[in-house]
Amino acid sequence: MNFSADIGTVKGVGKVRADGFRSLGVATIGELLRFYPRAYEDWSSILPIERCPIGENVCIKGTLLYPLKNDRVRGGMLIAKGSVTDGDSIVSVTFFNNKYIPSMLKSGEEYLFYGKITLGKYAAREMVSPMFIPVRQSKAILPIYHQNPKITSRQIRSALENVLADKTEIPEFLPSYILEKYSLVSLDTAIRQIHFPESAEILQRARERLIFDELFLLQLSLMRLKNTNKTVKTDNKIKIDYTDEYFKLLPFEPTNAQKKAVKAAVADMQSGKQMNRLLQGDVGSGKTAVAAALVYVCTKNGIQSALMAPTEVLAVQHFETFTSLFASAGITCELLTGSTKAVDKKRIKERLKNGEIDLIIGTHALIQDDVEFSRLGLVITDEQHRFGVKQRTGLCSKGKNPHVYVMSATPIPRTLALILFGDLDVSVLDELPPGRQKTVTYAVSSKKRRGMFDYIKSYLDKGFQGYIVCPLVEESENITGVQNVEEYYEKAKNTVFKDYSLGLLHGKMTPKKKDEIMSDFKSGKIQLLISTVVIEVGVDVPNAVIMVIENAERFGLSQLHQLRGRVGRGTQMSTCILVTDSSSEDTVRRMNIMCSTTDGFKIADEDLRLRGPGDFFGTRQHGLPRLRIADLMTDSKILNETQELAGEITRTDPNFTKNEHIKIGRQVNKKINSLGNTAAANTI
Ligand code: ADP
Ligand code: MG
Repeated sequence: MNFSADIGTVKGVGKVRADGFRSLGVATIGELLRFYPRAYEDWSSILPIERCPIGENVCIKGTLLYPLKNDRVRGGMLIAKGSVTDGDSIVSVTFFNNKYIPSMLKSGEEYLFYGKITLGKYAAREMVSPMFIPVRQSKAILPIYHQNPKITSRQIRSALENVLADKTEIPEFLPSYILEKYSLVSLDTAIRQIHFPESAEILQRARERLIFDELFLLQLSLMRLKNTNKTVKTDNKIKIDYTDEYFKLLPFEPTNAQKKAVKAAVADMQSGKQMNRLLQGDVGSGKTAVAAALVYVCTKNGIQSALMAPTEVLAVQHFETFTSLFASAGITCELLTGSTKAVDKKRIKERLKNGEIDLIIGTHALIQDDVEFSRLGLVITDEQHRFGVKQRTGLCSKGKNPHVYVMSATPIPRTLALILFGDLDVSVLDELPPGRQKTVTYAVSSKKRRGMFDYIKSYLDKGFQGYIVCPLVEESENITGVQNVEEYYEKAKNTVFKDYSLGLLHGKMTPKKKDEIMSDFKSGKIQLLISTVVIEVGVDVPNAVIMVIENAERFGLSQLHQLRGRVGRGTQMSTCILVTDSSSEDTVRRMNIMCSTTDGFKIADEDLRLRGPGDFFGTRQHGLPRLRIADLMTDSKILNETQELAGEITRTDPNFTKNEHIKIGRQVNKKINSLGNTAAANTI
């Protein structure tokens, strides 16, 4: 078996089929073998007709009662109907447009039929176009593959039958000590059985082995990338640590978690190697102050920094924070966003290139081609889950091996953090600044709105501020019971809250208008902000202590958590009210979780459980590698085992030089190559 041989060399695969295979990402025999079935037809558990569940695929064994005959009906279609009995019950079978069916299915002979049973007139059982095979040819379990208009599951199956007719053993790459320790079947068994399993038991063993391979190799590859990253030399070495000087600038005492995070990052940058570090911290944990420390230290060492934020509102906020913090320190900051005026843009770009700017803060505008630096050595991305891979690497390529600091407010469950950021070092802010109160959360129905408004007023009267969040609703999208942000604002302004100053904020406003509103809210000029989720990310107004989320059922758990994080940022106890009239099981569950905990990790875990990893991370843009067979949610046992083993090998034999590891090393290299762009997501 030559694994690298072209798919076209397989018996029965001509030019057209070969193209079909390529459209599925299968170009070689090796890739064909790794193209696992998506499901199976189980011909091995034969059910009595009487006991077959309706509407599900089942396999029955029966005899055709009388010969089939094709009738031609209107439109020229051929129909053959017959009756099949298993001795106790009868099911009628129907076939369409098959000239040969009367000669293929003979009365009096026993066949296996596979398909769905439905109930027809008078509750008679029917099978429409079932698959069938004579009993003596019975195959236990048959694979079903993902197909597309160019190639069918059946064609894929037959290509695999042809390839696997060669009984030469598929070479093993795992040493026997690993096979034994984790009681894994051989690769040969696993590959053959995953396609054509002899029993449900052996299929399970095959799956376990292949899941093991997938997770093991992935983690080894990520760990190797991390080691490689650690050896990337950089000129942006920090010579003098100015951290203590920086801490004196802060209007508050840094938390221990913040100190630890700064220390770890500075140590990375002092090593002479490139830093690649992720800062994880729940909303409100004080990530900005950590980022500012790194900027300060870099600037004092003559290195330029860039900070990229996902929204304009957030970029402006950072700009204000940094300029006021660094006012006395002689650090030059500028802001560059899509709405910066052309003249200013030109001036800023020039000064950036000449090295007259120490820190540039901005949005995606920073990635544009004509943005150049004199000595970019530190790249920070805030709320990184909002960025695609290209955007981050784009910014990094503007410097020479700049240090990379990624900040994320989406708590990532531990099991996944390693897969997603396996090659980044991680700091965690696991401590909130002192004096923070838990935000109390309630879920209420819209009937309570009147009382709720009174409650909000009582806070506004005391000088506090608040948010009301509504889902974004397009005019065309007239859904009853959903609050449209603009209407809501008009109504509130003219009725209940007519004696208060209100602001409206949504994504379709011009950036300038948004800034105006945000700064009026920050300064206290606006008491109550009616907004869409544009405020979801990062906005910091400690005086805002009350948040209402209308149509809370329309938001996911992590999003609700982010939104709620906009309050509870000062020393005053805050309240979050979730308004929903939905009583679906899913909504009730989400509301209960929100009301019972403010722990971001717990919420992320639940969110992941409810939505699955793909949705959780917004599918692929976050560098979550596509897995063929493993499932990060259900295969956590194997995930843990392989994580441990990969860690051990990385420590004891990082270059796979031991005899028993040489073949693993080859697989890892292949994996790293195949990770391609996805790996770049992890390496940035
Ligand atoms: P996030 O981690 O969500 O980005 P921020 O950096 O915006 O959080 O900080 C949240 C709030 O906490 C800000 O108002 C900030 O000034 C304040 N803060 C940060 N660190 C401390 C600290 N050590 N002591 C007191 N307040 C702090
Ligand atoms: Mg933040």
